[in-house]
Amino acid sequence: MKSSEYFDRARTLLPGGVSSPVRAIKPYPFYTARAEGCRLTTVDDEELIDCCMAYGPLLLGHAHPEIKKTIEEQLSRGWLYGTPTPLEPEFAGLVTRDHPGMDMVRFVSSGSEATMAAIRLARGFSGKKDLVKLEGGFHGAHDGVLIKAGSGATTLGVPDSAGVIPEVAARTRQVAYNDSEALEELLSKNRDIAALIMEPVMGNIGPILPRPGYLADVREITRTHDVLLIFDEVITGYRLGIGGAQAMFGVEPDLTTLGKILGGGLPIGAFGGRKEIMSLIAPEGPVYQAGTFSGNPLSLAAGYGTLDWIHRNRGVYGVLEDRARRIGEAAEGKKGSFVRIGSMFKHFFRDSPPENYLQAKECDTGTFLRFWSAMRERGIFLPPSQFETNFLSIAHGDAETALIGEAYGACLS
Ligand SMILES: *Cc1c(COP(=O)(O)O)cnc(C)c1O
Repeated sequence: MKSSEYFDRARTLLPGGVSSPVRAIKPYPFYTARAEGCRLTTVDDEELIDCCMAYGPLLLGHAHPEIKKTIEEQLSRGWLYGTPTPLEPEFAGLVTRDHPGMDMVRFVSSGSEATMAAIRLARGFSGKKDLVKLEGGFHGAHDGVLIKAGSGATTLGVPDSAGVIPEVAARTRQVAYNDSEALEELLSKNRDIAALIMEPVMGNIGPILPRPGYLADVREITRTHDVLLIFDEVITGYRLGIGGAQAMFGVEPDLTTLGKILGGGLPIGAFGGRKEIMSLIAPEGPVYQAGTFSGNPLSLAAGYGTLDWIHRNRGVYGVLEDRARRIGEAAEGKKGSFVRIGSMFKHFFRDSPPENYLQAKECDTGTFLRFWSAMRERGIFLPPSQFETNFLSIAHGDAETALIGEAYGACLS
């Protein structure tokens, strides 16, 4: 069967024909038959160089032989026990060592679950009710963070999805990224704020990069107002380096959420922080959190294997950065602006790099879609949205980097 036929059947059975909205490429998405390294093969026998990498998790590429072996070894011993496993303290030791402010961690099954629990924990710890997020920040698909952007710091949050009740949305305030004055103003006016949750580098509309000093200002402002700072490093964790954005920018949050790369391509999420906060989590404390698949042996094995590989190959981040930089060189002098940090990059169809959500929204999405199609015709698969980051993996070698660069140069003309 061809992709179009699979989709015809899928759309009668799955809303929009897909299991997650961003995959609904028009007129129909391609269906993947298999993947290896940096390449996807579709059921239509098309081979594509993948710059989406499942939206971030696959730092080591598709079907990395070492991770495959680790998963197979775990499979042979069973894949779900409902009891603690030896890998949990091992893995937790590694993750907490990599994040200085994280004394303890809880493993969950997705990034959404991690942010949901971290927010509950912040409220449980502080006894305060409101949450602040940044306009355009994405923290998964649960009620308290599905809030319309651009509503301004002083107004109440508005639901961004049917089914989110206004009373819940009203508890979430928003400020613009890179605007520490707006944050200061909001926190000094509102005394009932438990936490600020933010992507230190905005990955879900970007990358959008922090201005020099912005993250340090955010740390100081939140500390002064006794508001917990949650860094949502579901994308940036192990992507920008060991220790994620907090290590790169030298800013320590109170709580950190992780996911994506942490599971080596299998479902995972985690949240962690100082012992005095984390010990409020059940069964040690009164903040409830639980999950049938939490800390499941397969995800932990794949994740541990991935982190172990990274620790043995620390030079990899420099190599990845250099490759992404080369792609950027191909975009030089073309219309729009190329933004890169580490191995995350994006070409924005806007004269200068956006510094916040409202600026990102000014991008010419029509031109982006034509660019996306042209790249696809040249065999390069980019995330199908102006607002999703491209990712490289260690499987994108010099040859593939050159191919992506050439395609960029040609398609941006
Ligand atoms: C992907 C993502 C999430 C949600 O993670 P899921 O595993 O998809 O639930 C949360 N926060 C950020 C920053 C993300 O990029």
